[in-house]
Amino acid sequence: MSVKPEDFFKNIISHCKEYGFIFQSSEIYDGLSAVYDYGQNGAELKKNIREYWWKAMVQMHENIVGIDAAIFMHPTTWKASGHVDAFNDPLIDNKDSKKRYRADVLIEEHVAKIEDKIEKEVEKAKKRFENFDEGMFRSTNARVLEYQNKITEINSRFKTALNDGNLAEVKQIIIDCEIVCPISGSRNWTDVRQFNLMFATQLGSVSEESNTIYLRPETAQGIFVNYLNVQKTGRMKIPFGIAQTGKAFRNEIVARQFIFRMREFEQMEMQFFVKPGTEMHWYEYWKTARLKWHNSFGLGNENYKFHDHIKLAHYANAACDIEFKFPFGFKELEGIHSRTDFDLKQHEQFSGKKLQYFDNEENKSYVPYVVETSVGLDRLFLATLSAAYKEEALENGETRVVLNLPPALAPIKAAVFPLVKKDGLPELAEEIINELKYDYIVTYDEKDTVGKRYRRQDAIGTPYCITVDHQSLTDKMVTIRHRDTMQQDRIAIAEVKEFLNERVSLTSLLKKN
Ligand code: ATP
Repeated sequence: MSVKPEDFFKNIISHCKEYGFIFQSSEIYDGLSAVYDYGQNGAELKKNIREYWWKAMVQMHENIVGIDAAIFMHPTTWKASGHVDAFNDPLIDNKDSKKRYRADVLIEEHVAKIEDKIEKEVEKAKKRFENFDEGMFRSTNARVLEYQNKITEINSRFKTALNDGNLAEVKQIIIDCEIVCPISGSRNWTDVRQFNLMFATQLGSVSEESNTIYLRPETAQGIFVNYLNVQKTGRMKIPFGIAQTGKAFRNEIVARQFIFRMREFEQMEMQFFVKPGTEMHWYEYWKTARLKWHNSFGLGNENYKFHDHIKLAHYANAACDIEFKFPFGFKELEGIHSRTDFDLKQHEQFSGKKLQYFDNEENKSYVPYVVETSVGLDRLFLATLSAAYKEEALENGETRVVLNLPPALAPIKAAVFPLVKKDGLPELAEEIINELKYDYIVTYDEKDTVGKRYRRQDAIGTPYCITVDHQSLTDKMVTIRHRDTMQQDRIAIAEVKEFLNERVSLTSLLKKN
């Protein structure tokens, strides 16, 4: 069915609320901006995605272990990591609409619009010419060349401005590109200012300045400060990784697009400690491994692409994002960064403690280099749910809303229905549930017609519905209905568990990696 992209995204947001996936935080008090709660189905889906990540990282790699560090950390951590001085976003206000924007995002979106124009030219030409040679067209067409030059010029000015910390130049780029505020339509901009994204709070008694601590803006530092604890107690040999999932907090200037950009969110990060000089090998290795992991969700490989950073963070010597095609376009889903020995060296310097590794083969000590993979759990949830959400027109003229979630990640793995609420059918359905519930989340439903019950399960992505009818009492068989194809099969009750084991356990997903 063709729905406009903006309506499609709105439909997904209302679906999340209607079916218990995501609620606005403190909704009865009109909500809190960019903070969300996960409902009964959302919490399950989120937990399953987290578990899949954890198993793929920790359980499937002998040389990766997981930790769970505290959210509060010694304040010096954030001086050492550079966050106190440099974890800033450049912000700019429109004087007419009084709306605040991230200056870098305004420029990036402007560049994305020019890229769209190029794509349109290419598409037009494809239709016009037979034997169309895209490479040739891109390198010779005057209009495309003009657009490409424009992009190169903007990117290079922007990169220099950011590297020099030249905020006046960032504003000048916005003016020169004639970027307007989407609300007021005007170009009446304030100067660009830096804004630190960390939330500060007080530990213990108030008012003493030395008690100021921060809510962690990333989980990575909890791994770095524990590097030696884990390496020594786990007798880890390089290369090895430390993984962690947990909450992170950022006072985002522009928090829009639902759970894409939140002020409280969850990260799943893995720091891989390697011998200096081998980091580029591992950087490429993790790029490939992580893309493969994302592809295993089966949401369409064409929905992912790499995007190299044009400005590297202060700690990185190579960095890219895995972008996903969200309903509002390709955006960052995961970051892969070669962080050098920056973090460990900084912590050595600020703590006065050695954070080195003794390499038996080389017979020397060194500070390891680090390759990081960092993915936002909430963004991954949004990617999964939005790609799985389908509004299908059925032959009978009805519309069916279905979530084609990977079965192993679905909140509920199977629903068991008695055809009618009597004649011993509910009891048999309960028996089946009692058999399955030790391994899987299963649900019971006896209300309304079976057709309506199917629709309710489709809407939350339950892969299988099991119906018990009168014949089941004698032949000990049930009807299993498949969510995606709506096909129905009759199978023995004794085989139901095996049927699910083969289709809805995480093992099947893990084997795709
Ligand atoms: P962006 O450019 O979108 O602000 P970032 O480059 O600052 O993201 P990283 O610091 O690399 O993000 O964080 C790693 C991952 O954490 C991101 O790829 C994203 O999935 C997730 N993430 C970061 N900020 C947020 C947020 N405010 N809300 C939800 N997820 C986030």
